[in-house]
Amino acid sequence: MKDQINVTRSSMPEFEEFVAEIKELWDTHWLTNMGVKHKEFAKCLRNYLNVEMVTLLANGHLALECAIAAFDLQGEVITTPFTFASTTHAIVRNGLDPVFCDINEDDYNIDVGKIESLITEKTCAIVPVHLYGNVCDIETIEKIAQKYNLKVIYDAAHAFGVTVNSIGIGNFGDASSFSFHATKVFNTIEGGAVTYNNRELKKVLYFLKNFGITGPESVEFVGGNAKMNEFQAAMGICNLRHIDTEIIKRQQVVKRYKENLGNVKGIKLVKPQVGVKSNYAYLPVVFSGEVNLRDCVFDELELNNIIPRKYFYPLTTDYQCYANRFNSNLTPIAKYIADRVLTLPLYADLELKQVDRICSIIETRL
Ligand SMILES: *Cc1c(COP(=O)(O)O)cnc(C)c1O
Repeated sequence: MKDQINVTRSSMPEFEEFVAEIKELWDTHWLTNMGVKHKEFAKCLRNYLNVEMVTLLANGHLALECAIAAFDLQGEVITTPFTFASTTHAIVRNGLDPVFCDINEDDYNIDVGKIESLITEKTCAIVPVHLYGNVCDIETIEKIAQKYNLKVIYDAAHAFGVTVNSIGIGNFGDASSFSFHATKVFNTIEGGAVTYNNRELKKVLYFLKNFGITGPESVEFVGGNAKMNEFQAAMGICNLRHIDTEIIKRQQVVKRYKENLGNVKGIKLVKPQVGVKSNYAYLPVVFSGEVNLRDCVFDELELNNIIPRKYFYPLTTDYQCYANRFNSNLTPIAKYIADRVLTLPLYADLELKQVDRICSIIETRL
């Protein structure tokens, strides 16, 4: 549907720019397995994210799954249920037991005051999420991790380009995983990366993403296939040229939403974080009135051809695949927010007059 406004719209370079970027692939016939585009993109990305090391992967989920696998962990992992399916699945698919910590009411990230009470002798790691691009309480998480000797692997899928006191978000914890899915702030169609400081991890991640192959006639590890191909990397090279402009345009859209909705009774927005350069990835609104109006607003927007998303509802602990395994009542704030949140359309080219229209439709239902 042409006139439909979706929650997001993928950023794309000019057609000619992409064609010029992929042209040499027709000369080399080298389509995947860490070719020239892969190398060049990895270099540009390392630069942009301002990190020591980066490993490119086929998608953000495999980036997280491989990042966790790289530490060869066993036991329990503390994480949050108010996130995309990928975070919880990546832990479970590594044979680890997720232990769910509640979120805080300010930025919907892990409530660091509740982590320590969940630590047992089986706890091996924390997997916090920088949800909506908002930064977790990195310092406190670091202190807890050191005190109990835990690994910290950040799901930074939403946090591309975010900095904290000018430090790239990918520098914190033992590793961070990013998603370059079509719906994210920065995309390589599908794609992802892991960033880290420890050089040893480079090899491990390489084996994990390329069948554990260590030489022409030797396979030393049981790795999978999670390689980024040349076309993805070419898309990344192109999109990275425009990312700063894209983020500035998003900032304008967010500013307009805040002007319109900032003082509306019954609507709660996330406050800007001190020292953080945002990427304006998402615009979550929480309907905080006595009566929960979330679904009512959702339906009204849909009637008007505007498709927001209930990111993130339901909680991952309430998924059918985890039935009888977890108890979402143990994370009451996550439950409350998941029931009342709506993520509004937000992308670089969303017109300000459309933002105004979306906001007035919301207000008719309050
Ligand atoms: C998108 C996303 C992922 C997974 O990324 P893909 O590139 O889609 O595989 C992981 N975690 C979170 C929080 C996400 O939003």
